[in-house]
Formats: sequence, structure tokens, C-alpha cells
Amino acid sequence: MCCQVCLDQGLSSSRSVGVINGKELERRPQPSPSPCSVDTNKCATDWNLNPCQVGRSPYFLRKPHTRMSAMYRLKQCYPKGISISNLHTSSQACAKEHFKMLVLGGGSGGIAMSARMKRRFGADNVAVVEPAETHYYQPIWTLVGAGAKTLASSGRPTASVVPSGVKWVKSRVQEINPGSNTVITDDGKEISYEYLIVALGIQLHYEKIKGLPEAFDHPNIGSNYSIQTVEKTWIALQNFKEGNAVFTFPNTPVKCAGAPQKIMYLADSYLRKTGKREKAKIIYNTSLPVLFGVKKYADVLWEIVRSRNIQVNHRQNLIEVRADQREAVFENLDNPGETNVVQYELLHVTPPMGPIQVIKSSSLADEAGWLNVDKESLQHKNYPNVFGIGDCTNLPTAKTAAAVAAQTAILDRTISKVLKNQKPDRKYDGYTSCPLVTSYSTVVLAEFDYTGQPLETFPVNQGKESRIMYHMKADLMPHIYWQGLLKGFWGGPGPYRKLLHLGMK
Ligand SMILES: Cc1cc2nc3c(=O)[nH]c(=O)nc-3n(C[C@H](O)[C@H](O)[C@H](O)COP(=O)(O)OP(=O)(O)OC[C@H]3O[C@@H](n4cnc5c(N)ncnc54)[C@H](O)[C@@H]3O)c2cc1C
Repeated sequence: MCCQVCLDQGLSSSRSVGVINGKELERRPQPSPSPCSVDTNKCATDWNLNPCQVGRSPYFLRKPHTRMSAMYRLKQCYPKGISISNLHTSSQACAKEHFKMLVLGGGSGGIAMSARMKRRFGADNVAVVEPAETHYYQPIWTLVGAGAKTLASSGRPTASVVPSGVKWVKSRVQEINPGSNTVITDDGKEISYEYLIVALGIQLHYEKIKGLPEAFDHPNIGSNYSIQTVEKTWIALQNFKEGNAVFTFPNTPVKCAGAPQKIMYLADSYLRKTGKREKAKIIYNTSLPVLFGVKKYADVLWEIVRSRNIQVNHRQNLIEVRADQREAVFENLDNPGETNVVQYELLHVTPPMGPIQVIKSSSLADEAGWLNVDKESLQHKNYPNVFGIGDCTNLPTAKTAAAVAAQTAILDRTISKVLKNQKPDRKYDGYTSCPLVTSYSTVVLAEFDYTGQPLETFPVNQGKESRIMYHMKADLMPHIYWQGLLKGFWGGPGPYRKLLHLGMK
């Protein structure tokens, strides 16, 4: 009974959810929280049943004796006075859960926004859907691949980073239906929401390179971009004796566009330290026509590659790895069909990347498959109760955790305005940052905005290799990440930049 009532109430309610492009918008019909949903799930769990199976009458319930015992236990779960026949007819609805704020993805953006939304909505009203047991601080993988940090130091249990009281739905989102304000998880559960934040990250596509991922079983190849392969980079580096050390950049958007070359500079330093540099030819084969997108930092990097005798080849896209022969095959993007085979002793692969499938196949996506949000407010362009953050969005800036940090402050503000039926007023300027690690003790700290202009925090020339910036990257930033960003306290360096530049920036 309660489920049906809740649904009926929800369906009849309709009021404004906020503004987009200056127009006031109506809330789509949606179910209110079902008071029975939590209990039902609990019963289903006690039963060792997937909640959705209750509604679907699984095969084993069709057997008379199991059906009897299941009915008996269901009866125990429900308060007296509710007939089993009612429960049966509305059981699908009872498998439902409802949250005022639902966050999809428990990575950098998802956890940070869960913490902020807990403060705004109260813990009970917020849930985050994330399948992974461990949350990783990915930016440190650059140093893991170079042996300067351990992989273990980059991860913490997801349970420890989900804000206390916020519900962790340990599942994978399989379907997003913004028309009905619901999502479906891979265990068949339907979750409804009033507001949705999508923070699903970016998809890695190693399989788009012929020969991968199998080639990672060979000892000369690694990739800092995944948990499974980041330590293989360090093994390959230590095994290196002589020959070509090849580093790649794919023909797609990537997260942290500096990372494919950071590991190259670290490899150069390592080979120098171990006396093997003379016997190594370091090659950077990139699909891009430039070394880095922002001229100020590209100029510095060109000086570095020249002084360290590193060969840079543009418009070269890795399409195949023949691990048995240690051959990497590149396509010349300026002359499609023309291939170039490079023998390697060490190969670091940056995989092609793309939008997350579940977004791509929903009406939340733009034509390319990215989450279609307003670049200033981070509110979805068509669904005003949906918001996006981080790598999964079509925000035209470099995809980094630093960008996510700046976005959390803007998005928090946007949501506060939408809740009051007011126009979002703070604008994201595209701030992003890439600490370009150039050795085991130096970093060039690139910071820039949508216009591709430097937007530097410190009142010094950040276009110079700096030891202090290295310590900031290696020692301070992880601390800011775990204690500041994930707890919803760090919204990027904007306020400090203003202070350090005496209000001039
Ligand atoms: C090697 C490397 C170096 C980097 N260096 C830097 C750096 O120096 N500085 C910097 O700022 N950034 C750096 N980054 C980038 C940074 O880590 C990302 O940009 C940032 O983590 C993006 O946050 P996000 O929340 O958008 O995505 P993520 O943190 O990737 O989170 C996405 C989450 O969504 C979950 N998910 C995916 N699909 C589903 C689904 N269907 N259902 C439910 N959950 C799902 C995933 O499990 C994941 O937890 C680096 C990244 C790498 C890999």
C-alpha cells in the first residue's frame, strides 16, 4: 500500500526546479521517497535476495516450498496490517529507492560533491553509486610508474571516503533515464532522484589498440593510466638495458594530457641516474600537432626535450603492439594508411579514451557522447535537475582533478541557487592545472583556463622547473586531495590566487 501511495503522491506533484537560460522550469513528475524501500531492501538482503528479484518472482520462488518460506519471511519483514497481496503487486516499486540528491560515480568529483551535498541536503537524502571497493588518487600514478611512490599509497577503501551517513550504493549504473528521474543499476535496482550529479569519469580503451591488453603480459610494456598496468611501467623501466624507450599519446581526449610526457621525463632522469641514458633513444610519438596546448608551457617543454635529446614525432598514433617482436605500429594521421613500425625496449602506452557508455546511450549526452552541461554553471543543458562534473562532461577544458576541484565550488553554488529558484550566478572559468613533472625533483606547474591563457596561483614565473613545485605535487597535493577536496572543503586555489596577487587576478 505504502509504495503505491508514495508513487501516486509523487506523480501528482509538479513544481519549479529552477532556471535554465533564464526560463523557469517545471519538475518532472517523480515518486517521493518510499518509506518502505529501505525495509524492503533490508528484508531482501536478509533473504540473500537481490531486491529487484522480489518483484520479478525469480525461478526459485516458483517452487512451492521456497515460496512458502519466502512469504513467511516477507511477512516478518512487513508491519502487521499490510496484506501480502498488496506487497506482491507493488513489489517492483518497493525495490525502488529514492534520494533527494543522487550522485553517480564515487571518484574525485563524485565523493567531493557527496560531501558538499551532505551539508546541503542532510546525509540521509544523499546517495552515491560506485562499484569500486577502492578509491584511488590517480595523479600520483605518474610517480608510481617511476618508482617514486607505491601503488598502495594511492588508494583507500571507498567505504572510508564516502561521507558518513551518505548511502553508498555499491553497484554500477546501467541506465540513466532523466525523463523519469531514475537510474537502473546492474543488479536491477531502480533508484529515483530529485536532483542528479553525474561524475562518471572517462572510459579507457586499451582494446582499441590491436595486441592490447594481452601485450601487458610482456615485461617491456606499461601504462600509468590503470591500476593493473601502472606498476608494469616501473618494472619495464628497471628492466631497460638499451634501445628505444617509446612514449605515446593517443588520438582522443585524455585525462591529464601532461601525464603521457611526465613519465618520459622521469624515465630520462632514471636512465641518467643508472648510467643507461647513453644507450637509450627516447621517443615521444604523439597524435597531437603540438607538444602542449598552452604556448607558455609548450615553449618550456621544447627547451627540455631539446636539452635532453628526446625525439618528438607529431601526428603519430599507436594502432598496434606486437609484443613478441617488441614492435609498436603507428599510423601517420596526416597521411592515413601510412604506418611506421618502431622497435622498442620500453613502451609506455597512453590508451585512447572516450565517454562512458552509460552516458553515451542516454539523452544526457551531446553528439560526441559527453555529458552535455553548461560550461559556466555545470547545469545540464536540457535537464535542469541534472548536473555534471569532471572527466565525463563536455566542458572544453583539460580533464584533471585540479579542474574537478574548481568545479566543485561552482557546482555547489549553482545547486544552492537552483534550490532557491534563482539563476546560477558564479561562472566556471575553465581553471585546470597540470603539474608537469620533469624529473625526480622538478615540476613546471601549468595552470590555465578556457582561453588557454596561464592562470597561475603563485606570484612567481611558473614556467620554470621548480623543486618546491615538485614537493607540492608529490607531498602536499595528496594531502589536500584526501583531507580537503574529498571532504568538500577544497574548491581549488582561486581564493589564494587572489590573495597572493593582491586581488589583481
Ligand atoms: C596517470 C594519471 C595522472 C594524472 N595526473 C593528474 C595530475 O597531475 N593533476 C590532476 O589534477 N589530475 C591528474 N589526473 C587526472 C585526474 O585523476 C582525473 O581527471 C580525475 O580523477 C577526474 O575525476 P572524475 O570524478 O571526473 O573521474 P574519476 O575520479 O575517474 O571517477 C569516476 C568514477 O566513476 C565510477 N564509474 C564509472 N562507471 C560507472 C558506472 N557505470 N556506474 C557507477 N560508477 C561508475 C568509477 O569507478 C570512478 O570511481 C591524472 C590521471 C591519471 C590516470
